[in-house]
Amino acid sequence: MNILIFGPNGSGKGTQGAIVQKKYGVPHIETGVIFRQNISKKTPLGEKAKSFIDRGELVPDDITIPMILNRLKEDDCKKGWLLDGFPRNLAQAEALWTALQKENIKLDFVIEIDLDRETAKKRIMGRRLCKMDNNHPNNIFIDAIKPHEHDGTNVCRVCGCDDLSARADDQDASAIDKRHGIYYDTKTGTLAGVNYFKERTKVIIVDGSTGVKEVSEELMKKLI
Ligand code: AMP
Repeated sequence: MNILIFGPNGSGKGTQGAIVQKKYGVPHIETGVIFRQNISKKTPLGEKAKSFIDRGELVPDDITIPMILNRLKEDDCKKGWLLDGFPRNLAQAEALWTALQKENIKLDFVIEIDLDRETAKKRIMGRRLCKMDNNHPNNIFIDAIKPHEHDGTNVCRVCGCDDLSARADDQDASAIDKRHGIYYDTKTGTLAGVNYFKERTKVIIVDGSTGVKEVSEELMKKLI
């Protein structure tokens, strides 16, 4: 199964991505996670990417596109993949589509989680990352995935670890606006990429404004 998932930051894309990943047992490839891992390991890729990420800008295509196309060639991707956070603009969408056509690789599902910009922004500000596992959803503003409380401290609602943190770029309103500016841009941004796929293949659209459970139920119904 080869799957793409789109949704603005704050739409629950990561959470739904984790559910889809479990359903199909394919690697969940998240561009943002790859960058953050490289930054914390202080790799040359991380050094190059950091300043763009801190400013809420896209890491340039000449770094990102080969990184992802190479990642898709790794052994664990032979059984398929779920790409999350890529493509992020029209150029990346075109590069991915061209690479897949060249290798005769089929896209099984393209998913779009639809959510308005204002709601998405509020959700981002409440997001908390679990140090143990990035796929453990926690958000202080969403009841269904609120962290649990233990001795007055917020702990991960999935594994109970007390290492929950807010990403610096999640707390920076102007960085969020920049990221949403990129996502909602229908000329060259992410929605331009989504529209590019809509012209070429079927895109499954789910309403992201409901709860985690409702979104995943709608998605599961449509993933057949
Ligand atoms: P995310 O975790 O998906 O919100 O990504 C965090 C940051 O990583 C983004 O704000 C960008 O700076 C960078 N990034 C993630 N995916 C891409 C991509 N496909 N192209 C360029 N930069 C990206």
